[in-house]
Amino acid sequence: MRVLVTGGAGFLGSHLCDRLVAEGHDVLCVDNYYTGTKDNIAGLLGNHRFELMRHDVTFPLYVEVDRIYNLACPASPIHYQRDPVQTTKTSVHGAINMLGLAKRVRARILQASTSEVYGDPEVHPQVEEYWGKVNPIGIRSCYDEGKRAAETLFFDYWRQHSLEIKVMRIFNTYGPRMHPDDGRVVSNFIVQALRGEPITIYGDGQQTRSFCYVDDLIEGMWRLMESPADFTGPVNVGNPTENTMLELAEAVIRLVGGPSRIEHRPLPSDDPRQRRPDISLARKELDWEPTVALEDGLRETIDYFRHRLAL
Ligand code: NAD
Ligand code: UDP
Ligand code: UDP
Repeated sequence: MRVLVTGGAGFLGSHLCDRLVAEGHDVLCVDNYYTGTKDNIAGLLGNHRFELMRHDVTFPLYVEVDRIYNLACPASPIHYQRDPVQTTKTSVHGAINMLGLAKRVRARILQASTSEVYGDPEVHPQVEEYWGKVNPIGIRSCYDEGKRAAETLFFDYWRQHSLEIKVMRIFNTYGPRMHPDDGRVVSNFIVQALRGEPITIYGDGQQTRSFCYVDDLIEGMWRLMESPADFTGPVNVGNPTENTMLELAEAVIRLVGGPSRIEHRPLPSDDPRQRRPDISLARKELDWEPTVALEDGLRETIDYFRHRLAL
């Protein structure tokens, strides 16, 4: 198949491109390098099945493909808040363009949505039926509401134009190729521990997240795309093991060793207090569940950063 991956030079996108090329597909990677880098896909550049195009998805794109994975969008709060208007445009105009493309060539299309559509959730763990509690005017809204609008567009193209859609609600994912300055908690803690700097916990550290290792996530994404046509999602894909940020910091310090101590910083506004996916639907429809334990995934990620930072 000919497969388009938008945001393919990013953290998740580059792992997805690796997987698709390994499965024998022709992959077109589209990225404007806002947060992604060519380094992430350096290993694929000489491969005749792989093609790279610099392009911003807020502009139309005319190509011929059979599958579209729409991942283009900065995912870390510091990056998506740097140019919030562009973040909303990327989610909304990007979705319209990719859906328009999917409609013209009758391609199946998958949207990388997010657990952020649940906002600061009142239902725990989060099930797909929950509509979420999202601030429409806060500093996270460009991301949360952009992704919610993208989901709306996907379901309207499905109802109105009978497109084959797949909506995947991705929960916090980590692993090699996260950017050292990405700003997300796992990369921050590991880079700080490796450099012997203080580990910065925002707030009291009692807020929770559930961390999925990238290989598990890509397996779930692949299974969702190739699931029967009548299964649209939305479906949660993430690891149901929940940890406080304090527990994560302690695990990173233990695995890295070294002198780092914990320092507390102010909690950013609208920071969700707890997050854990209910993955019953993914288990049932995709026969999928994560297999990599947090400690094992952290070890792999620590090795990557140790090598990358040459520490
Ligand atoms: P990332 O920032 O590493 O990758 C995003 C990629 O999109 C980058 O390569 C970036 O350059 C590209 N991009 C941004 N705006 C673009 C535009 N207008 N046109 C073309 N390319 C553009 O982030 P990631 O962690 O790999 O996330 C990938 C997708 O998965 C995102 O849509 C994100 O919202 C979603 N997601 C990720 C997580 C996670 O924990 N990593 C969780 C939930 C959802
Ligand atoms: N589009 C695109 N590539 C295509 C087809 C469409 O980028 O191959 C974009 C184009 O910008 C268009 C948008 O997708 O405006 C939505 O397409 P659709 O056909 O749904 O609506 P249109 O705006 O063309 O009426
Ligand atoms: N966080 C933290 N220290 C950091 C970076 C993040 O304590 O250096 C916290 C952040 O406030 C949030 C959690 O870790 O409660 C996860 O943050 P991240 O940005 O990784 O993801 P998201 O909030 O989008 O789930």
